[in-house]
Amino acid sequence: MLGVLGTIQNFRLVIMSEEGKQMHALAEELFPICRSITGEGVRGTLHRVACEIPIVIHDVPSGTKVHDWVVPDEWNIRDAWIRGPNGQKVVDFKKCNLHVVGYSSPISSMMDLSELRHHLYSLPENPDWVPYRTGYYNHSWGFCVAQREIDLWEDGIYQVFIDAELSAGFLTYGELVVSGQTCEEFLISCHVCHPSLANDNLSGIVVAVALARHLLARPGRLTVRFLFIPGTIGSITWLALHGDVVPRIKHGLVLTCVGDRGGATYKRSRRSTATIDRVMNYIFQEVGLIERVLDFVPYGYDERQYCSLGYNLPIGVLSRSTHGSFPEYHTSADNMGFITEDALSDTLNKAICAIEMIEANCIYKNLKPMGEPMLGKVGLYDKGGGGRSGQFGELAMLWVLSLSDGTVDLLSIAERSKIPFPEIVGASLALEQAGIIRRS
Ligand code: ZN
Repeated sequence: MLGVLGTIQNFRLVIMSEEGKQMHALAEELFPICRSITGEGVRGTLHRVACEIPIVIHDVPSGTKVHDWVVPDEWNIRDAWIRGPNGQKVVDFKKCNLHVVGYSSPISSMMDLSELRHHLYSLPENPDWVPYRTGYYNHSWGFCVAQREIDLWEDGIYQVFIDAELSAGFLTYGELVVSGQTCEEFLISCHVCHPSLANDNLSGIVVAVALARHLLARPGRLTVRFLFIPGTIGSITWLALHGDVVPRIKHGLVLTCVGDRGGATYKRSRRSTATIDRVMNYIFQEVGLIERVLDFVPYGYDERQYCSLGYNLPIGVLSRSTHGSFPEYHTSADNMGFITEDALSDTLNKAICAIEMIEANCIYKNLKPMGEPMLGKVGLYDKGGGGRSGQFGELAMLWVLSLSDGTVDLLSIAERSKIPFPEIVGASLALEQAGIIRRS
């Protein structure tokens, strides 16, 4: 319990510099890997994660029907380039894996620049950046290039080469269950399907790893399940194959874009008043960021699947800058310089705080509701008269006694009384130990 008191009281101040460094270093190591929704890049990423925490790596065969979708063929790429009229490479996949549109078909061909242009993607508004594009279900090919580079290309015949393979294989994902004292589950989900993009995918992965490490060392009341999955098809696949687990999920967070310099953001679950929504609301209010708590919209990351009508799970999104709201989004500018140790640490701290708050958020029943119980008899009434007793004041106890009718949780008592949640928790624990209230 000191954990929750300490975390909440200090979470403005706590800078877990060592954790921040470790998370940033792991992201740096994973950065060069060319990931996609399937293939060796995801597998390599998960194997590296498995060196940090004991995830289980699952393979779901291509062609598996998952709700309205089918697990796609596996895509792997070995090399790709474009050579200009003088034979020089003007684009090289080995220098930047964003250069090739994800799931591009293989090609080896000569073509005129005017024809090649139909397969080029650039960002004229940010001419030095390479965009990130995918075409999972297009059966086409393309290259992403900085506009400033394209502007230098002369007319003539270009040689285009993509050595890629699309064939039956597997969709791979990683899963870790940190068992708690109950089978009530908290789901942490992050996507692992983007190539060299730091904020969009790597930040979520490294915060999830650090959070898992923290919980493995200190398991609590909740069982926490971690999913490292390819976006969209990964969550749909997991949901379709885990109908037995889904009912146990009572809370959850999608971790995405959690490392940039923008302040923290929370996007509510579709339910909007689930415990995770209320806890996040409380945390953001405490740190003066209540305007960064956003309503649910059915767009974004894997919350789209978890919160889809048929599931409607109580899962929100913890992020920094939101989906698509920053110019670096899905470009080569979302690089390692775009994410910071402090932002990763702050996100980790908020996720830990949310889990600890939910674990501490009990419902009690006052066993002596007829008049006030005589607190002095059990040593809970401050001798100075109405003062503070250790971590909590008398008023906190009176609020717990007043509202604990077996239906009201401690968070509601903190909200209504305007007394800090840790103080309400401390007061309720003291009253429980004195036999005056009981968990219901
Ligand atoms: Zn993305």
